Amino acid sequence: MSKPATGATSLSKLHLQHHFADLGPVFGTPTAPTPLQNPHTIHVNKSVMALLGIDPGEAEHPEWALLTTGGQLFPGSKPFAMKYTGHQFGGYNPDLGDGRALLLGEVEHDGQRWELHLKGAGKTPYSRFGDGRAVLRSTIREYLAGEALTALGIRSTRALSIAGSDEPVAREKMETGAALIRVARSHVRFGHFEYLFYTRQLEAQKKLVAFVCEQFLPEVCDQATEVQAEALLRYTVARSAELAAGWQSVGFAHGVLNTDNMSIIGDTFDFGPYGFLDDYEPGFICNHSDHTGRYAFDAQPGVVLWNLNALAHAFSSLLDTETLKDCLGKFQPLLIDYYAGLMRAKLGLAVEDDGDQQLCADLLQLMEHGRVDYSLFFRALSHYSGERPAAALEVLVAPAQHEALADWLRRYDQRLQKESRSAQERSKAMLATNPKFVLRNYLAQRVIEAAEAGDYQPLATFFDLLQSPFEEHPGFEDWAAAPSDSGKHLPISCSS
Ligand code: AMP
Ligand code: MG
Repeated sequence: MSKPATGATSLSKLHLQHHFADLGPVFGTPTAPTPLQNPHTIHVNKSVMALLGIDPGEAEHPEWALLTTGGQLFPGSKPFAMKYTGHQFGGYNPDLGDGRALLLGEVEHDGQRWELHLKGAGKTPYSRFGDGRAVLRSTIREYLAGEALTALGIRSTRALSIAGSDEPVAREKMETGAALIRVARSHVRFGHFEYLFYTRQLEAQKKLVAFVCEQFLPEVCDQATEVQAEALLRYTVARSAELAAGWQSVGFAHGVLNTDNMSIIGDTFDFGPYGFLDDYEPGFICNHSDHTGRYAFDAQPGVVLWNLNALAHAFSSLLDTETLKDCLGKFQPLLIDYYAGLMRAKLGLAVEDDGDQQLCADLLQLMEHGRVDYSLFFRALSHYSGERPAAALEVLVAPAQHEALADWLRRYDQRLQKESRSAQERSKAMLATNPKFVLRNYLAQRVIEAAEAGDYQPLATFFDLLQSPFEEHPGFEDWAAAPSDSGKHLPISCSS
């Protein structure tokens, strides 16, 4: 074993805890992983290793690939398949649960508890007709998304590392099995509470409320269950509003906002056919199977509220209707407030003004009509420091909207008069808010195709760029470009 860095732990000293699995058999089933055949490490996330306090040198040992694919267990690990249910595309499905993922246990570091979750570990009692595997393509997509969102300041699960294998896995075509160690402060979903509610396991439901409060709301830990339940629901409503505002501000569409994919602590959770906007297109549907647009980009805030309603219904065993309504009623004002703040920052507006919301709405309308690339526009606008980059903005906008753009820029100029920051300061702040590097689908596809051919270098390059998306990274312009028309709207399969 290598010499641990200061404060970092070697694997032999790491000892996983299992507070969640210890809640008991109502919450899931102890399940051994089915090791992946002939695994190899593809990429290791040094930032997440640091979060967990694991010495980065540990990933260089041959056993790392086994540890991260179920061939060997981390010390203290008690793998546990979690049971939950949820509403999928609006209908309740009582038959869910982690069908291909196992909670390995928890690591405590710097006063925070992190759960390690192995995705792609083989069948569990909840696999139904699935094979319990994850493919390389979807594993890379989840790995990149967690980093991209985190770097943009949006709460998300992340991953410790990803591994590939020789194991054939059948999807629309034959692919290879892969695995990812998901890291999150909690894997409790809305669907956990729905499961306990619909099966009338109300004592267990109270136990789960207390469990989540102990970790995230210690101030109500000693209080009655109703106090805890109300505090938790308020917390989830507020965090979900903040999350939805964040997604809308960066142009992220989750794609499958079922209640089993909603984290009780408001992390972005479970990545499937997600997409970041190229052109600003409010009705953007990234999920190939979402025929009605239930999970379209601009439908997300409403769907998050719909999901919160489903969660509140599951809390009706604990709280009266008036309280539930009051908790849910906070969502919209919070969402509007968070979103306004985020968009103001994108526009470089440090002072609040009554007209800001309209100014922003008009810009978005112009972007929609002018088929404007969402991220490139804000990045170009960020370079405004005294002299406006009008030409750089104009090339991003379809000619029919050039006059509208000129009008909008005149209003923006007037609005900037009310600001007290210098143009240089504002530009600096905007460049730290509006990313140059975005996890666009066509770039994810480029990385995946290379990885499927055995070349992991593009993945490593893109991963680094997404971890510091506001820096210029000269020489990597190719990774900052908008797609050609054929690279827009790539059909992203729901299978994973
Ligand atoms: P998802 O669409 O990834 O949120 O998954 C929905 C449900 O199907 C969850 O209960 C998953 O654990 C389960 N599931 C998805 N893919 C598989 C698979 N390949 N094998 C077993 N279960 C799966
Ligand atoms: Mg899921």
